Amino acid sequence: MPILVQKFGGTSVRDAVCIKRVAKIATDAQKNGYEVVVVVSAMGDTTDNLIELSRDITNKPDPREYDLLLSTGEQISIPLVAMAIQSLGSKAISQTGLQVGILTEDRHGKARITEVKTEKIKKYLKEENIVVVAGFQGISEVTGEITTLGRGGSDTTAVALAVALGAERCDIYTDVEGVYTTDPEIVREASKLKNISYEEMLELASLGAQVLHPRSVEIAKNFNMPMRVRSSFKPQDEGTLVQGVREMELNNPVSGVALDESQARVAISGVPDKPGIAATVFNSLAKKNISVDMIVQSTSHDGVNEIAFTVDKDTIEDTVPITNQIAKDIGATKVTTDTSIAKVSIVGAGMIGRPGIAAAMFKALSDSGINIQMISTSEIKVSCVIDVKDGDKAVKAIHKVFELEKLEKETQRV
Ligand code: ASP
Ligand code: MG
Repeated sequence: MPILVQKFGGTSVRDAVCIKRVAKIATDAQKNGYEVVVVVSAMGDTTDNLIELSRDITNKPDPREYDLLLSTGEQISIPLVAMAIQSLGSKAISQTGLQVGILTEDRHGKARITEVKTEKIKKYLKEENIVVVAGFQGISEVTGEITTLGRGGSDTTAVALAVALGAERCDIYTDVEGVYTTDPEIVREASKLKNISYEEMLELASLGAQVLHPRSVEIAKNFNMPMRVRSSFKPQDEGTLVQGVREMELNNPVSGVALDESQARVAISGVPDKPGIAATVFNSLAKKNISVDMIVQSTSHDGVNEIAFTVDKDTIEDTVPITNQIAKDIGATKVTTDTSIAKVSIVGAGMIGRPGIAAAMFKALSDSGINIQMISTSEIKVSCVIDVKDGDKAVKAIHKVFELEKLEKETQRV
């Protein structure tokens, strides 16, 4: 029998009524001929509340204790879901990450899954159980201690399980009906995509469109595991299929517009124009574990230039003193920071080999009187740094210029 993995996020299991709805979706899938593995997150805001509780006690919780605390949220939701399934007359058994054998790196807070044991789950499935697995948690492959996968990590548990079990698909049930061309709170006419490629989804997930944990998409892409993002409140709706680009027909150059307000810009001016300077600057930042996203170096005038880059706002307090020190060491004149920036990006596998896409984006911004501070591109993405106050306006203008409100109708013709 084909295996289906269904993952339910916190809002989908936030109370008893929702949990019963989840049980119905799982048992329906079983009736439709699937062996079903259900992965669940913690109920509602449980994880946030646990974090708050620990903060009331200490600012620097011990990482082992912190993971043990955060993993309890999922341990509450799994037996409740199993009970709800049993009440509908199906067999069900709940399993923690430890019980299944979800092995991770020996690292707390953001561990990567290294191996998923499948023997036990397969045995329970054979016995006609729906197996309900706790998301977001595993155990260190070295010490056996409980680890967590980073916020939103249940998606990753689900995809890793789907891959390990050779599932037909991994369905991610959430409180939205799929992946949209942009945040519907910014653009009311945003359309829901029928399908999107892993590559595009990965870009969107990393750009702060919070639908999926980026790591889950990475695993799905590497193992070609189809994912469906859909709503547990409207289970008849098929949502958005995330799949390989070869399986898709690309009618549109752009699939989505994302806005990321989480970065800050740092600029070093009066930088002597000689070899090795950029290497020195970015080496020092990397050594302190600060990841840099966009980098722009101006052309040199009178033997000096400017190097500007963006980092996560959260790391700005660490970045500034290091950058000041580097500036001093290399004889640069000034370091300035700007935390009121936003990065607006277009993503689309269909832009490969189609000229003029970036130009159309820049024109939409300039027609709206928005100044571009930095630009970066990849094969399927163009990002511009702008003033944070222009963020929503930029998204609206770009969404309109690429006529993304019409996208669903067009993809339906495929
Ligand atoms: N409960 C965890 C969190 O809130 C994991 C998840 O929901 O995916 O981040
Ligand atoms: Mg989530």
